[in-house]
Amino acid sequence: MTGDRLEPPAAMSVRKRIAGGFAVLLVLLVALAGVTLRLMVPLDAVAERVRADSAKAEAATEVSLLVGSVRERVVRYTLSATMADQKAAQDGLAELAEAITRTATNDPHDDGDLAALTTHYRNGADSTFAAVGQRRAVVARMHAAGTKIRTLTSAIVLALESEADADLIRGGVELAQRFQASDVASSRFLASRSPVDSNIAASELKAVPAGAAELSRLAAENRRVRRFIAALEQPLAVYANALQGVVAADEQLRLASADLAAATEAVFANAAAQRDRAAASQRAAVAAMLDRVRSVRGILLVASLAAVCIGLALAVLIGRALTAQFQRLAAAEAALRKKSVLFETTLANMEQGLVMVTADRTVGVVNERALQLLGLPPGLMHEGANVDEILKYQYERGDFGETDAKNRVLRHQRRLFGCAHLYERRRPNGTVIEIRGVPLPDGGLVRTYTDITERRLAEERIRHAARHDVLTSLPNRAVFAERLGEAIAHADTTGTGVAVLFLDVDRFKRVNDTLGHAAGDELLRQATDRMRAVVRDCDTLARMGGDEFALVMPDIRRETAIAIGKRLRAKVREPYVLRQGTASVRLSIGIACYPDDGVTADELLNHADLALHRAKTVGRDMCCVFDEGIDTHLHDELVLENALQFALQEEQFALVYQPIWDMQAQRIVGAEALVRWHHPVMGIIAPSDFIPLAERTGLIIELGRWVMETACREAASWASPISVSVNVAAAQLRRCELIDEIRDILAVTSLAPSRLKVEITETQLLEETAEMLARLTALRELGVRLSLDDFGTGYSSLSALRSFPFSDVKIDRGFTQGIVQDERARGLVESILLVCRVLNLECVAEGVETQSQLALLQRLGCTHAQGYLIGRPEPPATIRRKLWHLVAGERQEPLDDVPDAIAVTAGS
Ligand code: C2E
Ligand code: MG
Ligand code: MG
Repeated sequence: MTGDRLEPPAAMSVRKRIAGGFAVLLVLLVALAGVTLRLMVPLDAVAERVRADSAKAEAATEVSLLVGSVRERVVRYTLSATMADQKAAQDGLAELAEAITRTATNDPHDDGDLAALTTHYRNGADSTFAAVGQRRAVVARMHAAGTKIRTLTSAIVLALESEADADLIRGGVELAQRFQASDVASSRFLASRSPVDSNIAASELKAVPAGAAELSRLAAENRRVRRFIAALEQPLAVYANALQGVVAADEQLRLASADLAAATEAVFANAAAQRDRAAASQRAAVAAMLDRVRSVRGILLVASLAAVCIGLALAVLIGRALTAQFQRLAAAEAALRKKSVLFETTLANMEQGLVMVTADRTVGVVNERALQLLGLPPGLMHEGANVDEILKYQYERGDFGETDAKNRVLRHQRRLFGCAHLYERRRPNGTVIEIRGVPLPDGGLVRTYTDITERRLAEERIRHAARHDVLTSLPNRAVFAERLGEAIAHADTTGTGVAVLFLDVDRFKRVNDTLGHAAGDELLRQATDRMRAVVRDCDTLARMGGDEFALVMPDIRRETAIAIGKRLRAKVREPYVLRQGTASVRLSIGIACYPDDGVTADELLNHADLALHRAKTVGRDMCCVFDEGIDTHLHDELVLENALQFALQEEQFALVYQPIWDMQAQRIVGAEALVRWHHPVMGIIAPSDFIPLAERTGLIIELGRWVMETACREAASWASPISVSVNVAAAQLRRCELIDEIRDILAVTSLAPSRLKVEITETQLLEETAEMLARLTALRELGVRLSLDDFGTGYSSLSALRSFPFSDVKIDRGFTQGIVQDERARGLVESILLVCRVLNLECVAEGVETQSQLALLQRLGCTHAQGYLIGRPEPPATIRRKLWHLVAGERQEPLDDVPDAIAVTAGS
């Protein structure tokens, strides 16, 4: 009904893990792209550098090539000195300049500025060009002068042909030949440009003027020849000058050519160096690029591997996540199916009825139990049924009680719809249903119906048990107190009286002990029924605990209360027939009346209790009405009780010892330890006045232990090994620790167990239980002897006398004292003595006061005597002295001169 969600946290964690994987992958890819970009961008720069370097290298190569070409052209021009060659050289220079401009660079390793070198080169070229021009001009002048000289010499030769003088003619021819030789030498010099040839030409030329002068002298009469010879002077000078000019021009050209060659070399070398550097830089850039490419490749490889790994991991993760998710889905589905089945089963088998109503007030879910608890037919209450129809049906059937306010009921039911509620409804068939409603978030409502009939009944029972006694079903103490309060309040308004009766069943304990607790319970139930039959309906009879009952009677006078008390006693004392046997008990009653005996509930209760106490102490089976005297008596008792609390610490107790006489041996064979209370104000208090009180308050345990230890220690110090008798109360005997205590005391005091006698009064034998028998047997097994005290006063049967391990019986002094004059007493003593003989028990006659009593007892066969005649209870010092006499062998007389040291004796 609630639906089951598919473990969203797990699914979320899977989604988170996958998303995380993708995120890591994404980050990795982005990082990879970044790294690649960072590596690729420098690659472009490197490539650019490579391109630039290669352009530089190309340009430098072009410059180198051009320099070579230009140098060739310049050389050719210097040799040819033609205009065509000059133009070719100049064009080459222009091309070189252009190439150099293109190569213009800021190369830091450039040792000389290529442009500057080019300028230098250009200047070299210009000087060369100028030198070539200069030479050409000088050579032209020389050629012109030479032509003039040849013309003149030829004219001279021709002018002399008409002369008959052979010397003269020869002289003329020689002159022409001299010049020709000089001209030839000059031509050779012009062609060779050798300084040797220059010197030859110059020396050849020097012969020409000398020949001319010679001829002039010879041909002094030939005027024409002489004129020609004179005309030779100027061209010859020009010729000689030109010849010298050519030498100078050649020198000039040589220098210029050397300059140019150096400049050429420098440019060439510079260009080559630049080209080499460019090439080296290019190589370095390429190498760097290759390195980069390699690292990019490495990174790409690593990154690809990482991406593949992460991809694989992601795939595995997603696969596992999907598998796990599928498994969870399958498990959740299975769990859902299981839950659904469980839900159906639970719904069908649950102890509670369950109805789920939807927001539109129709039944959504209903189980079988709801139909049972509400008593609705399945045809009416089913899934989809209208809730208002069902409510109307229930109303008309009377499920909501006897009311006509149908609309109010239905409105109320509707109001409950929107809020949580819890209430109970008792159905007409008596079933109590607890209805719990919880609103649903969608406006619907879930209601559970629990059958709490049993719980309510149980609560009722518990409530009843809390106020009533389980055994008798009577009201308990609390109810009694309430009723008493109510009765007093009623009496105050009406002026009537109220009586409070405290009832105590006497001898009930005996029934319990003899017939068992089941019988005791049965008896109490029957007694209750009898008492109920006596009291009025308006009275409240309550059980206060154990065998104590109380009765509050409103609107009553004292006399009527007493009469009813009598009737109660009469009814209760009638015999009871129980499954375990028959029994009879008595009833002690204490009565206190309002307002005479008390005006508050506590006062009345207290006084009724005091009256009951009186009835029980006076003699049981009594009806005692409260009076002021009771109060005083009990007050005294309370004072005594308080004093008793401190008596032991303040060492107010002392023991006296009364001798026990062996009639046959005619000597003391033992002494009974009797306790005395020396009260600082009240004087000596007799045991009969405080032993019952000590028993009631529990002080007897401590007191008894003290008596036992003191008596044993005293007896151990006696000169004669006679026995010591110690009285043990019922309360002491009931404790299982008694045996160990006595064993310890005997050990501590070093008294032989056989010297100790434990006296148990006959009334204590009423508690004739297996436990008591076991305890007495254990005492016997210690070696301690047992005496049955005050025999004849109680109810002990002869069988009890036989079953308990007594060594002797003590005849109560009430019989001893009447033995001489009272036939009945004597007869009883005789019977006791007979029983003792039969059972082989010794017999001690208590309270022997006269010789005649002693003599009669001896005659009747009594073995031992105890009484004032033998000796009064005496302090330890006295008894010790007596025993010394005994040890000394002095004859003992029953009546000796021991003074009566003890003021308080039994019956005194
Ligand atoms: P009991 O054990 O029967 O003790 C004998 C009582 O008779 C004593 O009284 C004793 O003084 C008294 N008596 C002895 N000879 C004579 C006689 O010739 N004439 C008369 N008239 N009386 C005689 P007592 O000491 O007052 O003790 C009374 C009872 O108190 C004892 O009766 C005993 O039952 C109880 N009692 C005494 N001491 C202790 C004690 O230490 N522990 C317990 N549990 N009970 C004790
Ligand atoms: Mg005694
Ligand atoms: Mg006695």
